[in-house]
Amino acid sequence: MKKLGSQRFHIAPGERYHLKHIDPHDDAGIDEKGEAKDLVEELQAKLQSFQQCLYAQGRHALLIVLQGMDTGGKDGTIRHVMGAFDPQGVIVTPFKVPTEEELAHDFLWRIHKAVPRRGMIGIFNRSHYEDVLVVRVRKLAPEEVWRARYEQINQFEKLLSDNGVAVVKLFLHISPEEQAERLRERQTRPDKQWKFNPGDLEDRALWHDFQTAYEDALTLCNTAWAPWYVVPADRKWFRNLAVSRILLDVFEGLELAFPKPVPDIDSYVIPDVPERQG
Ligand code: AMP
Ligand code: MG
Repeated sequence: MKKLGSQRFHIAPGERYHLKHIDPHDDAGIDEKGEAKDLVEELQAKLQSFQQCLYAQGRHALLIVLQGMDTGGKDGTIRHVMGAFDPQGVIVTPFKVPTEEELAHDFLWRIHKAVPRRGMIGIFNRSHYEDVLVVRVRKLAPEEVWRARYEQINQFEKLLSDNGVAVVKLFLHISPEEQAERLRERQTRPDKQWKFNPGDLEDRALWHDFQTAYEDALTLCNTAWAPWYVVPADRKWFRNLAVSRILLDVFEGLELAFPKPVPDIDSYVIPDVPERQG
């Protein structure tokens, strides 16, 4: 557990993230078949009780932003994280190519509407970061438009943070080799072929442009109030472990407590149900 503090995946605001210096295959020296299983169970159990507290207290919301290249494991991470939580307390929102209506508004319009209410956990499968990632790489907006967005995003996330929303941002970091493997799997496995999207191959050809755009987003929007974490994601079991660890640390920073019970709770006597009449 010691070697898996969430700080392993985070750098101080102002420093630059260099993705090529972060190993997507990292496993922190943890043995998958040994300690990993116990660790995951322990972390999941703690996450579960934190979530109950978050829900019961209704003071904070938790927003988990998930970003990564195609096949990076966003869906798998969501399945894993959801496993720890009561489904009633979680809302997952995927962000796709914007609709005509969404494009007719500022880029944060659709995002803000999906921010979880207090007591809830929101998971974004992609997010407002697409507006400085795919939009930048594919030149869907002029540079002066996407350049201004880093600061706009920081201000927006500050607003959320000041209003009780804990924002945690996870970049699932995979290697191009691992992506090739996963794409081939999607191509050949009947139960995965539905996920195969030729458009993903075009994004793959722009791999390095995306990495640069990611480094800028991770660096320029790594704030004290909405930190970025880079999660080595070539190994799914380690990715899940790391994500659980990070979320646990975020919860621990929230000072959650169950709300006070009704006064004199001990004085209540649970009555017998009266006899049925007639
Ligand atoms: P996926 O999450 O792989 O199912 O696909 C969603 C697609 O929507 C990805 O290719 C994203 O890059 C794209 N997308 C999401 N948000 C935006 C955006 N703001 N502008 C353009 N494309 C987007
Ligand atoms: Mg895609």
